[in-house]
Amino acid sequence: MTLADKISHAAERKTFETLLDNLIKKGQTHDASQVASDLIAMVQRLHGDVWSETSFQTLRMIANDPNGKWAHYTQRLLRDNDPYILKTFLTNAVYEGGIRGYHVAQETAAKYDINVPWLILMDPTSACNMHCTGCWAAEYGHKQSLTFEEMDKTLTEAKALGTHACLFTGGEPLMRKKDIIRLCEKHRDIAFHAFTNGTLIDDEFCKEMLRVGNFFVSVSIEGFEEANDGRRGDGHFQRALAAMDLMRSYRIPFGVSICYTSRNYQVVTSDEFLDLLISKGCVFAWYFHYMPVGQNADTSLLLTPEQRIYMKNRVREIRGVTGGKELYCIDFQNDGEFAGGCVAGGRIYCHINAAGDVEPCVFIHYSSANIKEQSFLECLQQPLFKLYRKGQPFNDNHLRPCPMLENPELLPKMVAESGAHSTDLEAPETAEHLCEKCRDYAACWKPTAEALWQAEHPEQA
Ligand code: SF4
Repeated sequence: MTLADKISHAAERKTFETLLDNLIKKGQTHDASQVASDLIAMVQRLHGDVWSETSFQTLRMIANDPNGKWAHYTQRLLRDNDPYILKTFLTNAVYEGGIRGYHVAQETAAKYDINVPWLILMDPTSACNMHCTGCWAAEYGHKQSLTFEEMDKTLTEAKALGTHACLFTGGEPLMRKKDIIRLCEKHRDIAFHAFTNGTLIDDEFCKEMLRVGNFFVSVSIEGFEEANDGRRGDGHFQRALAAMDLMRSYRIPFGVSICYTSRNYQVVTSDEFLDLLISKGCVFAWYFHYMPVGQNADTSLLLTPEQRIYMKNRVREIRGVTGGKELYCIDFQNDGEFAGGCVAGGRIYCHINAAGDVEPCVFIHYSSANIKEQSFLECLQQPLFKLYRKGQPFNDNHLRPCPMLENPELLPKMVAESGAHSTDLEAPETAEHLCEKCRDYAACWKPTAEALWQAEHPEQA
């Protein structure tokens, strides 16, 4: 980067921070709409070539309606949460990653003909302090972990390519909370996040989150006490709620991550459950469709077409411009149309497991590249990622985005052609075995998905 680039970067970041500061300060006053409009105008000036005019129109509509649902949500977000965390995290996620980093990543992608991710999912350890049903982490997890130096090196290399967001998974990532805080301290221009069971969040860690400002968490939860603890172990539900209460007392924003299955999909989208989360201070929910990954995966947890339609409609209702709930939520499997289909293989994100293997997706455990032996750029250049890039979108119908779940004939071909090997840390599974479990599901979902897509996108029929 030239000196002029450095100066212009610093000036732009400062302007973004100042506008955010003003918005946070004026969040409760009638001036908030004007500040929000200024911020939107700045983002449109820097990013208007990427987001559609419709997206900016929606943002302006929300900013100009101080009594609307999302204005109210924003006021709550600004009123109830620590201003330093809001400013630091949003500056890194939106300005550094979403705007400036996006353009650097586009240049890198074109230069090397590779996907460059906006976000890295990384497992600092495969160890966990819990014993959830069906999860191997407690028994096997202690065997693999990434050192601070390995994570630091990868993030440094990733930033040079344009990536400024990192989400820790596991195992239980907070088993490594000291190293996570060190990474937050060292990489002041990265937005960090973690999916956690919440049980290791204590006063000391809350103070550390407040101090660094560029990190907060989503607590994994699967429903109310009985269903949640049936899978996660007695007492987890109450401990997860206690972690939420503690973060709220420190004014630290948090979300939840929810795996939905044929058994819990209605409960985890019910008014009662969402009202409970909102009452605890939760600001967003990530919904993940159950994936039958692993030798012992239970395919009865996969959703029927009717159940999946329910999820798609219900999540859109929850986050609607009016009605629903004041909780922002994303359903990765049904929101493909907003991201252009599958986001893996580095297109928007990739996954690094606790052994250092760089995998296309947190659910797709195949790779031929490892950060312990190669640079992050070399890992993105691996053949499986190139095949993802070539194949994406894997289906023009974005309700069928996945090369495993909805297009199970695709992944085994890519794995074979790329020479990638199984990187499953518990028990290696062939891509054929994995995808065989998805065939009935994919065949059942296809006619429903086609009918839905044609009805909602007649211009593409
Ligand atoms: S590989 Fe499948 S599960 Fe992973 S991001 Fe792509 S569509 Fe989603």
